[in-house]
Amino acid sequence: MQPEQLELFEIAPDYRDHKKYRDGIFRTKAQLKEELQQLGRDRIYHVLSFGGGTQSAHLLEQHLQGLIHYDYIIFSDTGAEPQFIHEQVAWWQQRQRACGNSTPFLITHHSSMERGLEEMLMRYIHTEYQRFQMPVYCSTLDPATGEIKAAGMMPRQCTVDFKIVPVKQAARRAVMDLHGLGYRQQMPDNIGFIIDIGFSYDEIRRINTSQSPQFKYVRLAYPLVEQNETTANSIRFLEDNGFPTRRSRCYLCPFNCDGVRDIGMDWDEIIESEPLSFLKACYFDRVLREVQQTGSKIMRSIPYLHYSRRPLIEVYTAEYERISAEYGAELVEWVSSWEAAIREKWNPDEQLIRA
Ligand code: SF4
Repeated sequence: MQPEQLELFEIAPDYRDHKKYRDGIFRTKAQLKEELQQLGRDRIYHVLSFGGGTQSAHLLEQHLQGLIHYDYIIFSDTGAEPQFIHEQVAWWQQRQRACGNSTPFLITHHSSMERGLEEMLMRYIHTEYQRFQMPVYCSTLDPATGEIKAAGMMPRQCTVDFKIVPVKQAARRAVMDLHGLGYRQQMPDNIGFIIDIGFSYDEIRRINTSQSPQFKYVRLAYPLVEQNETTANSIRFLEDNGFPTRRSRCYLCPFNCDGVRDIGMDWDEIIESEPLSFLKACYFDRVLREVQQTGSKIMRSIPYLHYSRRPLIEVYTAEYERISAEYGAELVEWVSSWEAAIREKWNPDEQLIRA
Protein backbone atom coordinates (compact mmCIF):
# COMPACT_ATOMS: atom_id res chain seq x y z
CA MET A 1 0.00 0.00 0.00
CA GLN A 2 1.29 3.49 -0.88
CA PRO A 3 1.98 6.01 1.97
CA GLU A 4 -0.98 8.19 0.84
CA GLN A 5 -3.29 5.16 0.99
CA LEU A 6 -2.02 4.36 4.47
CA GLU A 7 -2.88 7.89 5.54
CA LEU A 8 -6.31 7.64 3.93
CA PHE A 9 -7.14 4.53 5.92
CA GLU A 10 -5.23 5.85 8.96
CA ILE A 11 -3.00 2.77 8.95
CA ALA A 12 0.38 3.42 10.53
CA PRO A 13 3.27 2.33 8.28
CA ASP A 14 5.28 -0.59 9.61
CA TYR A 15 8.50 -1.57 7.84
CA ARG A 16 8.13 -5.15 9.14
CA ASP A 17 5.16 -5.64 6.80
CA HIS A 18 7.14 -4.50 3.79
CA LYS A 19 8.46 -6.98 1.24
CA LYS A 20 11.94 -5.36 1.35
CA TYR A 21 12.17 -6.31 5.03
CA ARG A 22 10.55 -9.73 4.66
CA ASP A 23 12.95 -10.53 1.78
CA GLY A 24 15.95 -9.44 3.88
CA ILE A 25 16.90 -6.57 1.54
CA PHE A 26 16.28 -4.00 4.26
CA ARG A 27 17.73 -4.97 7.65
CA THR A 28 17.60 -3.12 10.92
CA LYS A 29 20.66 -1.58 12.55
CA ALA A 30 20.50 -4.18 15.31
CA GLN A 31 20.58 -6.95 12.70
CA LEU A 32 23.49 -5.30 10.86
CA LYS A 33 25.43 -4.83 14.08
CA GLU A 34 24.91 -8.45 15.07
CA GLU A 35 25.99 -9.59 11.63
CA LEU A 36 29.24 -7.57 11.82
CA GLN A 37 29.90 -8.83 15.34
CA GLN A 38 29.44 -12.43 14.23
CA LEU A 39 32.16 -11.76 11.67
CA GLY A 40 34.45 -10.62 14.49
CA ARG A 41 34.01 -6.95 13.59
CA ASP A 42 33.06 -5.71 17.03
CA ARG A 43 34.67 -2.25 16.81
CA ILE A 44 31.89 -0.64 14.81
CA TYR A 45 32.03 2.95 13.60
CA HIS A 46 28.69 4.69 13.09
CA VAL A 47 28.51 7.26 10.31
CA LEU A 48 25.78 9.64 9.17
CA SER A 49 25.71 10.34 5.46
CA PHE A 50 24.48 13.92 5.67
CA GLY A 51 22.83 15.40 2.58
CA GLY A 52 22.14 18.89 3.89
CA GLY A 53 18.40 18.60 3.22
CA THR A 54 15.54 17.32 5.33
CA GLN A 55 15.69 13.63 6.23
CA SER A 56 19.38 13.37 7.13
CA ALA A 57 18.93 16.65 9.05
CA HIS A 58 16.21 14.88 11.05
CA LEU A 59 18.78 12.17 11.90
CA LEU A 60 21.44 14.76 12.69
CA GLU A 61 19.08 16.46 15.13
CA GLN A 62 18.39 13.09 16.80
CA HIS A 63 22.16 12.78 17.18
CA LEU A 64 22.46 16.29 18.65
CA GLN A 65 19.72 15.38 21.12
CA GLY A 66 21.68 12.29 22.18
CA LEU A 67 19.17 9.84 20.72
CA ILE A 68 21.46 8.28 18.13
CA HIS A 69 25.24 7.84 18.19
CA TYR A 70 27.57 8.86 15.36
CA ASP A 71 31.35 8.78 15.18
CA TYR A 72 31.37 10.83 11.98
CA ILE A 73 28.98 13.08 10.11
CA ILE A 74 29.96 13.23 6.44
CA PHE A 75 28.61 15.48 3.68
CA SER A 76 29.59 14.64 0.12
CA ASP A 77 29.52 17.67 -2.16
CA THR A 78 28.16 16.64 -5.58
CA GLY A 79 29.52 19.87 -7.06
CA ALA A 80 26.00 20.79 -8.23
CA GLU A 81 24.05 21.53 -5.07
CA PRO A 82 22.41 24.94 -5.03
CA GLN A 83 24.02 27.53 -2.79
CA PHE A 84 21.03 27.31 -0.43
CA ILE A 85 21.95 23.69 0.35
CA HIS A 86 25.52 24.72 1.17
CA GLU A 87 24.00 27.38 3.43
CA GLN A 88 21.89 24.71 5.14
CA VAL A 89 24.99 22.56 5.68
CA ALA A 90 26.71 25.57 7.27
CA TRP A 91 23.58 26.20 9.39
CA TRP A 92 23.73 22.63 10.75
CA GLN A 93 27.45 22.92 11.47
CA GLN A 94 26.68 26.07 13.45
CA ARG A 95 23.87 24.29 15.31
CA GLN A 96 26.21 21.40 16.11
CA ARG A 97 28.67 23.87 17.66
CA ALA A 98 25.87 25.61 19.57
CA CYS A 99 24.82 22.21 20.98
CA GLY A 100 28.40 21.58 22.16
CA ASN A 101 28.61 18.45 20.01
CA SER A 102 32.10 17.63 18.72
CA THR A 103 31.48 14.67 16.39
CA PRO A 104 33.83 15.14 13.41
CA PHE A 105 31.86 16.73 10.53
CA LEU A 106 33.70 15.96 7.30
CA ILE A 107 33.11 17.34 3.82
CA THR A 108 34.17 15.20 0.89
CA HIS A 109 33.65 14.69 -2.85
CA HIS A 110 34.14 12.22 -5.73
CA SER A 111 37.70 10.89 -5.63
CA SER A 112 38.79 11.66 -9.21
CA MET A 113 36.21 14.22 -10.34
CA GLU A 114 36.55 16.59 -7.40
CA ARG A 115 34.23 19.14 -8.99
CA GLY A 116 31.47 16.58 -9.09
CA LEU A 117 28.59 16.28 -11.49
CA GLU A 118 29.41 19.43 -13.45
CA GLU A 119 32.83 17.92 -14.10
CA MET A 120 31.32 14.57 -15.12
CA LEU A 121 28.93 16.26 -17.55
CA MET A 122 31.56 18.58 -19.03
CA ARG A 123 33.88 15.62 -19.43
CA TYR A 124 31.10 13.64 -21.13
CA ILE A 125 30.32 16.56 -23.43
CA HIS A 126 33.88 17.51 -24.33
CA THR A 127 35.81 14.23 -24.41
CA GLU A 128 35.41 10.58 -25.32
CA TYR A 129 34.24 9.81 -21.76
CA GLN A 130 31.26 7.45 -21.98
CA ARG A 131 30.07 6.85 -18.43
CA PHE A 132 26.85 8.78 -18.05
CA GLN A 133 25.69 8.77 -14.42
CA MET A 134 22.51 10.84 -14.26
CA PRO A 135 18.85 9.73 -14.28
CA VAL A 136 17.81 11.70 -17.37
CA TYR A 137 14.49 11.10 -19.12
CA CYS A 138 15.05 9.49 -22.48
CA SER A 139 13.35 9.38 -25.84
CA THR A 140 14.30 7.30 -28.87
CA LEU A 141 13.94 7.90 -32.55
CA ASP A 142 12.37 5.08 -34.56
CA PRO A 143 14.49 5.16 -37.76
CA ALA A 144 11.73 3.43 -39.76
CA THR A 145 8.93 5.84 -38.94
CA GLY A 146 10.85 8.90 -37.72
CA GLU A 147 8.66 8.80 -34.65
CA ILE A 148 10.14 9.94 -31.32
CA LYS A 149 8.97 7.80 -28.40
CA ALA A 150 9.40 8.05 -24.62
CA ALA A 151 11.98 5.47 -23.52
CA GLY A 152 12.34 5.37 -19.73
CA MET A 153 15.11 6.86 -17.63
CA MET A 154 18.83 6.30 -17.22
CA PRO A 155 19.74 4.74 -13.82
CA ARG A 156 20.31 7.06 -10.87
CA GLN A 157 24.00 6.17 -10.58
CA CYS A 158 25.03 9.69 -9.52
CA THR A 159 23.66 9.25 -5.98
CA VAL A 160 25.91 6.23 -5.50
CA ASP A 161 28.98 7.62 -7.27
CA PHE A 162 28.88 11.21 -6.04
CA LYS A 163 27.27 10.86 -2.61
CA ILE A 164 27.35 7.38 -1.08
CA VAL A 165 30.73 6.06 -2.28
CA PRO A 166 32.62 9.28 -1.33
CA VAL A 167 31.08 9.06 2.17
CA LYS A 168 32.30 5.46 2.53
CA GLN A 169 35.76 6.43 1.29
CA ALA A 170 35.95 9.41 3.66
CA ALA A 171 34.82 7.27 6.62
CA ARG A 172 37.38 4.63 5.73
CA ARG A 173 40.15 7.24 5.40
CA ALA A 174 39.26 8.82 8.76
CA VAL A 175 39.31 5.49 10.59
CA MET A 176 42.56 4.35 8.93
CA ASP A 177 44.11 7.67 10.02
CA LEU A 178 42.80 7.17 13.54
CA HIS A 179 44.49 3.77 13.68
CA GLY A 180 47.73 5.10 12.19
CA LEU A 181 47.24 3.16 8.95
CA GLY A 182 47.59 4.25 5.32
CA TYR A 183 44.50 4.42 3.11
CA ARG A 184 45.73 1.56 0.92
CA GLN A 185 46.42 -0.78 3.82
CA GLN A 186 43.98 -3.48 4.79
CA MET A 187 41.18 -2.61 7.21
CA PRO A 188 41.84 -4.40 10.54
CA ASP A 189 39.69 -7.54 10.89
CA ASN A 190 37.85 -6.28 13.96
CA ILE A 191 36.57 -3.03 12.42
CA GLY A 192 33.19 -2.55 10.78
CA PHE A 193 31.08 0.41 9.69
CA ILE A 194 27.38 1.15 9.75
CA ILE A 195 26.54 4.11 7.53
CA ASP A 196 23.11 5.68 8.05
CA ILE A 197 21.31 6.92 4.94
CA GLY A 198 18.35 9.30 5.35
CA PHE A 199 15.78 7.44 3.27
CA SER A 200 12.27 7.58 4.73
CA TYR A 201 9.63 4.87 4.91
CA ASP A 202 8.01 6.23 1.73
CA GLU A 203 11.35 5.76 -0.06
CA ILE A 204 11.83 2.14 1.04
CA ARG A 205 11.67 1.06 -2.61
CA ARG A 206 15.05 2.82 -3.12
CA ILE A 207 16.75 0.35 -0.76
CA ASN A 208 18.51 -2.30 -2.78
CA THR A 209 21.03 -3.59 -0.30
CA SER A 210 22.35 -3.27 3.23
CA GLN A 211 25.76 -4.55 2.17
CA SER A 212 28.19 -2.10 0.59
CA PRO A 213 29.26 -3.49 -2.80
CA GLN A 214 32.65 -1.75 -2.47
CA PHE A 215 33.67 -2.67 1.09
CA LYS A 216 32.79 -5.99 2.75
CA TYR A 217 33.00 -4.48 6.26
CA VAL A 218 30.52 -1.64 5.53
CA ARG A 219 26.76 -1.96 6.07
CA LEU A 220 24.11 0.56 5.08
CA ALA A 221 21.30 1.36 7.51
CA TYR A 222 18.11 3.37 7.11
CA PRO A 223 17.03 4.48 10.61
CA LEU A 224 14.09 6.61 9.45
CA VAL A 225 12.59 3.54 7.78
CA GLU A 226 13.03 1.67 11.06
CA GLN A 227 11.30 4.53 12.82
CA ASN A 228 8.50 4.32 10.19
CA GLU A 229 9.06 8.03 9.51
CA THR A 230 7.89 9.51 6.22
CA THR A 231 9.44 12.44 4.33
CA ALA A 232 6.46 14.58 5.35
CA ASN A 233 7.05 13.71 9.02
CA SER A 234 10.68 14.84 8.79
CA ILE A 235 9.69 18.12 7.15
CA ARG A 236 7.00 18.68 9.80
CA PHE A 237 9.55 17.94 12.54
CA LEU A 238 11.98 20.51 11.11
CA GLU A 239 9.22 23.10 10.65
CA ASP A 240 7.95 22.61 14.20
CA ASN A 241 11.45 23.29 15.50
CA GLY A 242 12.13 26.27 13.24
CA PHE A 243 14.94 24.43 11.40
CA PRO A 244 15.70 24.90 7.67
CA THR A 245 13.50 22.75 5.42
CA ARG A 246 14.77 23.00 1.86
CA ARG A 247 15.06 19.61 0.13
CA SER A 248 18.57 18.72 -0.95
CA ARG A 249 19.31 17.95 -4.56
CA CYS A 250 21.45 19.18 -7.44
CA TYR A 251 20.27 22.28 -9.30
CA LEU A 252 19.99 20.27 -12.53
CA CYS A 253 18.42 17.16 -10.99
CA PRO A 254 15.88 15.53 -13.31
CA PHE A 255 13.79 14.77 -10.22
CA ASN A 256 13.07 18.49 -9.92
CA CYS A 257 9.34 18.97 -10.42
CA ASP A 258 6.96 21.87 -10.77
CA GLY A 259 3.78 23.00 -9.04
CA VAL A 260 1.77 20.19 -10.62
CA ARG A 261 3.93 17.41 -9.21
CA ASP A 262 5.07 19.18 -6.06
CA ILE A 263 7.49 17.20 -3.91
CA GLY A 264 9.30 20.22 -2.50
CA MET A 265 12.07 20.08 -5.11
CA ASP A 266 11.08 22.18 -8.04
CA TRP A 267 12.49 24.08 -10.97
CA ASP A 268 10.77 27.28 -9.80
CA GLU A 269 12.89 27.31 -6.64
CA ILE A 270 16.06 27.06 -8.76
CA ILE A 271 14.79 29.72 -11.19
CA GLU A 272 14.01 32.13 -8.36
CA SER A 273 16.93 31.41 -6.02
CA GLU A 274 19.69 30.67 -8.51
CA PRO A 275 18.99 32.05 -11.96
CA LEU A 276 22.53 31.39 -13.20
CA SER A 277 22.27 27.74 -12.11
CA PHE A 278 19.05 27.49 -14.06
CA LEU A 279 20.89 28.77 -17.16
CA LYS A 280 23.59 26.15 -16.55
CA ALA A 281 20.90 23.45 -16.38
CA CYS A 282 19.48 24.73 -19.70
CA TYR A 283 22.99 24.59 -21.18
CA PHE A 284 23.51 20.95 -20.11
CA ASP A 285 20.02 19.98 -21.24
CA ARG A 286 20.57 21.43 -24.74
CA VAL A 287 24.20 20.44 -25.27
CA LEU A 288 23.72 16.85 -24.10
CA ARG A 289 21.23 16.33 -26.92
CA GLU A 290 23.64 17.95 -29.39
CA VAL A 291 26.40 15.57 -28.27
CA GLN A 292 24.10 12.57 -28.70
CA GLN A 293 23.51 13.68 -32.29
CA THR A 294 27.24 13.39 -33.05
CA GLY A 295 26.89 9.59 -32.69
CA SER A 296 30.09 9.47 -30.60
CA LYS A 297 28.42 8.15 -27.47
CA ILE A 298 27.46 4.62 -26.48
CA MET A 299 24.25 5.94 -24.95
CA ARG A 300 21.90 6.24 -27.90
CA SER A 301 18.89 7.87 -26.27
CA ILE A 302 17.87 11.49 -26.54
CA PRO A 303 18.19 12.86 -22.98
CA TYR A 304 16.05 15.49 -21.23
CA LEU A 305 16.38 16.99 -17.76
CA HIS A 306 12.68 17.87 -17.58
CA TYR A 307 10.17 15.10 -16.91
CA SER A 308 7.96 16.24 -19.83
CA ARG A 309 10.77 15.24 -22.21
CA ARG A 310 10.81 18.74 -23.64
CA PRO A 311 13.78 21.12 -23.67
CA LEU A 312 14.00 23.17 -20.47
CA ILE A 313 14.27 26.29 -22.64
CA GLU A 314 10.88 25.45 -24.15
CA VAL A 315 9.19 24.57 -20.83
CA TYR A 316 10.32 27.83 -19.21
CA THR A 317 10.63 30.12 -22.25
CA ALA A 318 9.78 33.43 -20.57
CA GLU A 319 11.99 32.72 -17.55
CA TYR A 320 14.84 31.58 -19.80
CA GLU A 321 14.71 34.73 -21.93
CA ARG A 322 14.59 37.02 -18.90
CA ILE A 323 17.47 35.24 -17.12
CA SER A 324 19.55 34.92 -20.30
CA ALA A 325 19.38 38.65 -20.84
CA GLU A 326 20.77 39.22 -17.36
CA TYR A 327 23.22 36.32 -16.90
CA GLY A 328 24.09 35.27 -20.48
CA ALA A 329 27.59 36.73 -20.30
CA GLU A 330 28.31 34.91 -17.02
CA LEU A 331 27.17 31.64 -18.58
CA VAL A 332 29.55 32.11 -21.53
CA GLU A 333 32.41 32.78 -19.12
CA TRP A 334 31.48 29.68 -17.05
CA VAL A 335 31.41 27.46 -20.17
CA SER A 336 34.79 28.67 -21.40
CA SER A 337 36.43 28.26 -18.01
CA TRP A 338 35.08 24.68 -17.88
CA GLU A 339 36.37 23.98 -21.40
CA ALA A 340 39.83 25.10 -20.34
CA ALA A 341 39.65 22.97 -17.17
CA ILE A 342 38.52 19.86 -19.07
CA ARG A 343 41.18 20.39 -21.75
CA GLU A 344 43.85 20.61 -19.07
CA LYS A 345 42.69 17.71 -16.89
CA TRP A 346 41.03 15.14 -19.12
CA ASN A 347 41.89 15.73 -22.73
CA PRO A 348 45.35 17.26 -23.09
CA ASP A 349 46.28 15.72 -26.45
CA GLU A 350 42.98 15.57 -28.27
CA GLN A 351 40.75 18.04 -29.96
CA LEU A 352 37.66 18.63 -27.91
CA ILE A 353 34.64 16.98 -29.49
CA ARG A 354 32.89 20.31 -29.23
CA ALA A 355 35.63 22.85 -29.91
S1 SF4 B 1 20.15 15.08 -6.54
FE1 SF4 B 1 19.60 14.23 -8.54
S2 SF4 B 1 21.34 14.75 -9.88
FE2 SF4 B 1 22.03 15.06 -7.75
S3 SF4 B 1 23.01 13.14 -7.19
FE3 SF4 B 1 20.86 12.97 -6.55
S4 SF4 B 1 19.78 12.01 -8.29
FE4 SF4 B 1 21.77 12.74 -9.01
